[in-house]
Amino acid sequence: MNSAVRYTIQAVQPAAHLFEVTLHLDAPDPAGQVFSLPAWIPGSYMIREFAKNIVSLTAQRGDTPLVVTRPDKHTWRLPAGVTGPVTLRYTVYAWDLSVRTAHLDQTHGFFNGTSVFLCAHGFENAAHQVDILPPVGLENAGWRVATSLPEAGAERYGFGRYQAESYDALIDHPVEMGTFSLAEFNACGVPHAVAITGRHDCDLTRLVDDLKPVCEAQIRLFGEPAPMDRYVFLVMAVGDGYGGLEHRASTALLCSRADLPHAGMEAPTEGYRQFLGLCSHEYFHTWNVKRIKPAAFVPYDLSRENYTRLLWAFEGFTSYYDDLMLVRTGRITRADYLTLLGKTISQVHKGSGRRKQSVAESSFEAWTKYYRQDENSPNAIVSYYTKGALVGLLLDLNLRTDSQGRTSLDDLMRALWQRHGQTGVGVAEDGLCALAAELGGAALGDWLREIVDGTGELPLEAWLKRVGVDLAWEAPSEAPGIGVRTTADGDALKIANVFDGGPAQGAGLSAGDVLVALDGLKVTSGNFDKLLARRMAGERVEIHVFRRDELMRFDVELRAAPADVAKLVLADDAPASVMALREGWLAG
Ligand SMILES: [Zn+2]
Repeated sequence: MNSAVRYTIQAVQPAAHLFEVTLHLDAPDPAGQVFSLPAWIPGSYMIREFAKNIVSLTAQRGDTPLVVTRPDKHTWRLPAGVTGPVTLRYTVYAWDLSVRTAHLDQTHGFFNGTSVFLCAHGFENAAHQVDILPPVGLENAGWRVATSLPEAGAERYGFGRYQAESYDALIDHPVEMGTFSLAEFNACGVPHAVAITGRHDCDLTRLVDDLKPVCEAQIRLFGEPAPMDRYVFLVMAVGDGYGGLEHRASTALLCSRADLPHAGMEAPTEGYRQFLGLCSHEYFHTWNVKRIKPAAFVPYDLSRENYTRLLWAFEGFTSYYDDLMLVRTGRITRADYLTLLGKTISQVHKGSGRRKQSVAESSFEAWTKYYRQDENSPNAIVSYYTKGALVGLLLDLNLRTDSQGRTSLDDLMRALWQRHGQTGVGVAEDGLCALAAELGGAALGDWLREIVDGTGELPLEAWLKRVGVDLAWEAPSEAPGIGVRTTADGDALKIANVFDGGPAQGAGLSAGDVLVALDGLKVTSGNFDKLLARRMAGERVEIHVFRRDELMRFDVELRAAPADVAKLVLADDAPASVMALREGWLAG
């Protein structure tokens, strides 16, 4: 392949967290070639301005330096009249331990293309080539390379030449380099790899035994063949961390090493269930959002926010399927699945924001609200992940019940895949509701519209009952409360959120206040709940707090904790027709 845009990338100063990148272009735009770095990374809907990490940049034609101007913060421009081959050389500071950016030290390097590869305007659809070079000073450290970028001369897991069919493809294959451990398996004939970086004692055999059936079940749900020829899980194990980002043939994951399976582990721990759920989630995105996309993302505009009201389907349905695929493949028990589903329901019901913002609005405002949460978020917003998952559940149960189990959300996902994923045609803003109407009748389309645009309570009890699951609401504790969420700050206890309409808000307490005393007794991070447990709802207490450095006093009336914790159980007395629907739902 004769590539129009050629890059090299090298960890030139790992200890200083610096990659050096060169970009070579044979035929720059004679009107003044423009280069830019994305302002955001697809999958994480927030303006991050990756250009801020470009430390220095020079350009030359042959040996002649060129003057580079900056039309805006994301953009670099060469002078007009430059016609021959040009080379840009720049350094990128990489010290953000997250799946969205880049990270480099003596132990490993990780980057997303959005953080390191400038886009040569006008050449977006041309072939791109990258030489990934060994780290300077660590040539004998035994580093390897894990990425789903297609090789163009490099050996698998080796340094060398890789390629991508376009800029969009180039930035959708993150790269890990270091001394990771590696496991490989096939799912429906497609080679898969798991590369784990960081100190860990993961039982790779167990992990593969659990991942393989989940991947196969998802490939079969959408239909063989799988859309990728290879898939890589890039896992970074740390002491405490959690995150994942989806890509077309890989995912970058951050997890706590304690959540990985260890030798001799029998039933999955809660942490491991969560990690498997994360893997399942990102893998499902291989179809849902990486190929089936909202029309607003076709193509992405990486210079600014891309608005869609559909993230409840792309993130929410993916969240619905992540744990569902674990129970369908027997990785977790049905009781575990109902516990996880109960948690999702409880999370949605914890905040009054669900009565103010719809999931469609939550999707649209992801850039400023979901991704930039503050102390008032529980009172102001609803998550398109958790509530979107419940919309997926309700739509699934509705389709199953009305068709006596002949149609389900699986059919809707397959229709999306065939019409949008396989064709590249984006989903219109009303596309999900229109498709629901097509599969289940016009009334179902209207019902879905009302749910995604509305802020009413979801009819969960009624629909779960129809598949033999009983939902009961419980209070989190018998102790009365003041309507706050607290966080420990050393030995001190700080108010993190004050819930709308609660006693604390009525009395004037605020997020950020440090609790000092309750009825004259010192409050610590360990004793507040115990002090409250000795009191009754309706009693008044005196609370002292520090707001900044000022001591303040409040009279607060205690209130019974609201019954907002959802408990789900399998009904054992349901009729056979209901049991059959439940079997179809949980067994797939
Ligand atoms: Zn997701």
